[in-house]
Amino acid sequence: MKSVDGLVTDSPGVTLVIHTADCVPVFLIDPEHRAVGLTHAGWRGTAARIGAAAVAAMAREFGTRPGALLAGIGPSIGPCCFEVDRPVRDVFAGLTDLDPKGFIRDDGGGKYHIDLWESNRRILMRAGVPESSIAVAGICTRCHADRLFSHRASGGRRGGLAAFLGIGEGAGA
Ligand SMILES: [Zn+2]
Repeated sequence: MKSVDGLVTDSPGVTLVIHTADCVPVFLIDPEHRAVGLTHAGWRGTAARIGAAAVAAMAREFGTRPGALLAGIGPSIGPCCFEVDRPVRDVFAGLTDLDPKGFIRDDGGGKYHIDLWESNRRILMRAGVPESSIAVAGICTRCHADRLFSHRASGGRRGGLAAFLGIGEGAGA
């Protein structure tokens, strides 16, 4: 199977798995259609609005209403630790409809910090997911490198985290 950054299914018993280290796992659950989506949002994927692409894929494939989705933003590199240079900052600054001041911090000297959790949260909200339906774990992999794998903290010598999401095979509500 080719490498992908997002998966969706409505097949009970099929478990979606993605591997991350500092990238953001975005979980989507459609309780109405019993469908799920899981995406891997690095900074490029985040800026390309992969979260919104997953919402659109679920709408297309399963008839998902964005307003009925539940979403989760999992452990990943936090705004405390995701330092970038000007070119990456400029990509995020280009997300003008999301009020990027809310996820870019200017540290001076050409250094910036990006909040990937908040940018993904705003992307999902923009795609129609209610703010009250989005949970952010708020756990930074780099700050917790003793317990979670962080690419940045380990200099690339690391294992990986895996995110899982599936639909039970029971008849459940
Ligand atoms: Zn951190």
